[in-house]
Formats: sequence, structure tokens, C-alpha cells
Amino acid sequence: MNSKRSELHYYPDGDILIIADKTIFRVHKNILKMAAPTLLNHEQQGNELPFINIPNVSSSVVDIALSMIYPRHFIMPTWMNIDALLFLASNYSINKIYVAGVTFLDQNFKKNPMFAFYLAEKYKLSFLFEETSKLVLDQLPKYKEDSAFQKLPLEIQSALIARHMSYVHSVAELSVNHFLSTYRHTCNNPAFHNKELNQEIESRVSTILDQPNNIKPSKVWSIILSHITVTDGIDCNDYFMREHLAKKFTAMFGDFKCLDIDKDEENPKCYIYISRNKS
Ligand SMILES: [Zn+2]
Repeated sequence: MNSKRSELHYYPDGDILIIADKTIFRVHKNILKMAAPTLLNHEQQGNELPFINIPNVSSSVVDIALSMIYPRHFIMPTWMNIDALLFLASNYSINKIYVAGVTFLDQNFKKNPMFAFYLAEKYKLSFLFEETSKLVLDQLPKYKEDSAFQKLPLEIQSALIARHMSYVHSVAELSVNHFLSTYRHTCNNPAFHNKELNQEIESRVSTILDQPNNIKPSKVWSIILSHITVTDGIDCNDYFMREHLAKKFTAMFGDFKCLDIDKDEENPKCYIYISRNKS
């Protein structure tokens, strides 16, 4: 066997070997016992030292994994190795690496939403699945071309496409009537108030319908729901904005939510989304 020693993790006083991808790591059972106890279930007896064979994982990933486990290194996952690290962490229940991987994704998913969504699905990370679905659905026509989208299970691809299609249909049905026809005014001059609302909503609807294809759901949300300022009937208008318009919008487009990390911002963007829990 043409194996070589790891340059980083071959400790002379190590008492167990890890073999991955023709590379031998010599490490300490006590460290594994704390950081990756499940790994020790795969221990086999060797000539001099016991060993653990890790198939299907590259030596560079084991290198990084051990650097995370050993106290003298500080290392963070990257987009290049996050998939392999989570694979290793979930298959061998290595909590420290799992937590580092999920933390990396929670902090960085905005930079690479499609790939983060793919990983959230693959490793059953429900929270991240919903969060990343917001950004993916906001630009689905673009992300559909991404290789991470193609690698998704078909039922997940279909769920994304179905949610986006229903949004596209809602845009096509936009009308001033939908928002205004059933509103009961409480102000002194309903005719005038209604005229003001009608003008403003009409202009919003045509802004949306005039856009070229693929106007983002988050954009439609902010156009329709941004505050309408009127000259009279402030209370009636506040009620219209807060209750009626928002309700009518949801009835037409379904639920929107902002990103959890944006929730304390003053005017966070809101998105359509899908969840992993089907109940
Ligand atoms: Zn009114």
C-alpha cells in the first residue's frame, strides 16, 4: 500500500491510526474519545497500533477535521470543504465539526444561498432550509441554472418550482379591485380616501406589471405594502394599511417572512419560502 504520513497530524506519542485516502494520521485515543467517540466504534486491531479506516473522505478533509478537534489549531470551514466536513460529522457523529459547519452556514448563507440550501436539505437542517429557501425563491429563475439546484432531490426541486409558479400566477392576477373592493371605510370622507388609495395602488400595480420578467417576490412585497400617505382619514388609513391591505396581500400571495437575521432591522425585506416540515 502506497500510504504516506500526514504532515500535520502524525503525533509520535499517538496511540491510534486513522487511515483515509492513503494517508495515515497518528492521533490520541483520549482526544477522539472526547471529540468523536463514535469513530472509535470503527476501531480495528493492527500490527502495532489499532487503526480506523475512513472510506469516501479525502485526506485533506480529515486533516481539517483533526485541526478542528485538536486544541492547538483554530480553523473554520470554507465553501470548498463544508460539504465534506458535514458528511464526516454526520456519518461519525463528530459534534464539534457539525457545530462548526452549521455555524459557518448560518453566518454565511447569504453569500451562497443555492449551495447553502442544497446542504440544508442534504443534512436535514430545518431552520437553514427555510431561511435559504427565501433567498433561492426570490431569484429562482437564476438559481435553477445552478448545479446545486440540479443535485437536489426531484421532490424538492418541484416544491421550489411550485411555490414560485404560484407566485407568478398571483402577480398575473394583481388588480386594484382585489385590494379595495371590500374595504369598509371608517373615515369621514370615504369617497375621497378611496380615490387616493385607488390612485396609489393602481400606480403600484402597474409598476409591477410594467417590469420585465422575473420581478422578485421581495420587491413585489415592498412595493405593495409600503406605507401610503393620505391627506385625511389617518385612522382609517392606518387600519387599511395594517389590517386590510396586508390580509389581502397574503390571501393572494401566501405567507411572506423576513430572514431571521434581519428581523430586528427597521424595514426588513420579506420573502416567500418553503419549509421542511410538511405537517
Ligand atoms: Zn377611509
